[in-house]
Amino acid sequence: MGSSNPDYDVIIAGGGMAGLITAASIGHHSKGKARVLIVDRNRKDEPGRKTNNGWTCGDATSKRSLDYLADHIGIRYGSPELEHPVKGVYVYSPDRASKVLFEGEGYLFNRKLAPRRQVADARKFGTEFMFGATAERLTSDDGQITGVSGRKSDGSTFTYSAKVTIDATGSSSTLRRFMPIPSMIEKEIDPDDVVGTGRYILDFEPAADRKEFFDPDYCIIHLDQFLAPAGYCWVFPKGKKKVNIGLGVSHSGLARRNRRFGLNDNLQSLIDKYLADNPVIKSYSQPADDANSGNTKGNWQVPVRRHNDCMVANGFAVVGDSAWMPRPIDAGGISPAIYGGTILGKVVADALEAGDTSEVGLWKYNVEYMNTHGYPMASFEVLRRYLQTVTNDQINYGMKHFLSEEDVAAITERKHPEFNQARFMNPAMWLRILGQYSLARGLRYTVKKSASLVEINLSYPESPKGFSDWQKRLERELAETVEKFKPLDVVAA
Ligand SMILES: Cc1cc2nc3c(=O)[nH]c(=O)nc-3n(C[C@H](O)[C@H](O)[C@H](O)COP(=O)(O)OP(=O)(O)OC[C@H]3O[C@@H](n4cnc5c(N)ncnc54)[C@H](O)[C@@H]3O)c2cc1C
Repeated sequence: MGSSNPDYDVIIAGGGMAGLITAASIGHHSKGKARVLIVDRNRKDEPGRKTNNGWTCGDATSKRSLDYLADHIGIRYGSPELEHPVKGVYVYSPDRASKVLFEGEGYLFNRKLAPRRQVADARKFGTEFMFGATAERLTSDDGQITGVSGRKSDGSTFTYSAKVTIDATGSSSTLRRFMPIPSMIEKEIDPDDVVGTGRYILDFEPAADRKEFFDPDYCIIHLDQFLAPAGYCWVFPKGKKKVNIGLGVSHSGLARRNRRFGLNDNLQSLIDKYLADNPVIKSYSQPADDANSGNTKGNWQVPVRRHNDCMVANGFAVVGDSAWMPRPIDAGGISPAIYGGTILGKVVADALEAGDTSEVGLWKYNVEYMNTHGYPMASFEVLRRYLQTVTNDQINYGMKHFLSEEDVAAITERKHPEFNQARFMNPAMWLRILGQYSLARGLRYTVKKSASLVEINLSYPESPKGFSDWQKRLERELAETVEKFKPLDVVAA
């Protein structure tokens, strides 16, 4: 068993979006009683920085998730960590002939400034910080995670023990990968379930008034299987003359697209092409003030599968990108980090109070996250796989003819769309569907699969006992889709 007198109640490795919210939630729910240490590799004056390239993100999140945070742990973000409000998201078809509005207020974070606020929030509850410290390995004793060891920036090593250790180190986590105890947490992610993403943050003088290329009130998503194979491109406003512009691609999707067209593009060359093609953002510069310096150009990776089927072990939990939480269809990971961190913080505070930080004692985190935010993620994984198989022409057609207002509302509500307009039962659609038979069939198949996946997720086992049977059921349901949805370069254009 672990030490009876550990150094801390909780150690959180990684002080990014998920780790800092988890700390605040533990503080809130334990009324500041829990002794929490955050270990982060960044310098103290650069909290939350993801990589050498900065706080790389599209920066957008929904008001709904920020309201959840305020309602559950009393933290309401404002200026300067929230930089700009938006009214919704417009998604454009590759030919730009169709646009679909996903209504719902949201905000653009300043990801460089937000962690400063979040560190202050966590400190209010007594959270301690060790900056300049890289967590390298989990320590264990008798089937229980007992803490973490690592190296400080001066080269010295450290080992600290805790009743609960949390891996919030983001998408490059090595802690999870080298878990030293047997557990139900999956250690490895399939490289095909990771997208490469990158973006610029730019000040600019608008060169034209073309709302399909920049809109100060709406986020814009451009679907384009040529420019962003198996991903998408975005233009998110950070002010009237400031923008976050970038794109995400699947590595294998890009390799297939390059092979197919005899090209040699990489993520950065695609981002640069996308920027060069924008008729509004012409005369631009990378802002160099404190709020932006070191954070205006960067690429990083995001997991886009469903979250880890199990996120706890004895004395251990994963949260945020390390738990593969981002939404599979759009790689949005801020909301999941908010929901996941808030829920995990409460479960950990309760487990400490009850004196049971075992897998069983922490299990409620799995259940609550699934029931609150995680239940549609497996179905979005299927929708993502399906979207990877369609051509630009099919997307143009599908957005024009098959997407209904109800589908849009469903996606906005985080539910899966029904694509009822692609149903054979609708006689008016027969002619259209016969022309696009495979598209209609694929859409209907994802709807059917999605309904059963949501149903499986909503019956997530209440204790570790039922996990193995539950997971087999989920995997059986998912396996068929991998086989069915062939990659784009074997599908006729
Ligand atoms: C280009 C891009 C665009 C995106 N756009 C959006 C968007 O518009 N909306 C959205 O919702 N999501 C978006 N995402 C995803 C979102 O940024 C992430 O989901 C989110 O930051 C995850 O938070 P996290 O705390 O889990 O990880 P991170 O933010 O990566 O934080 C991890 C922290 O741990 C530290 N760390 C890492 N390893 C160690 C270690 N071994 N020891 C100690 N410390 C360590 C890091 O330095 C960092 O401080 C985007 C991602 C990218 C890359």
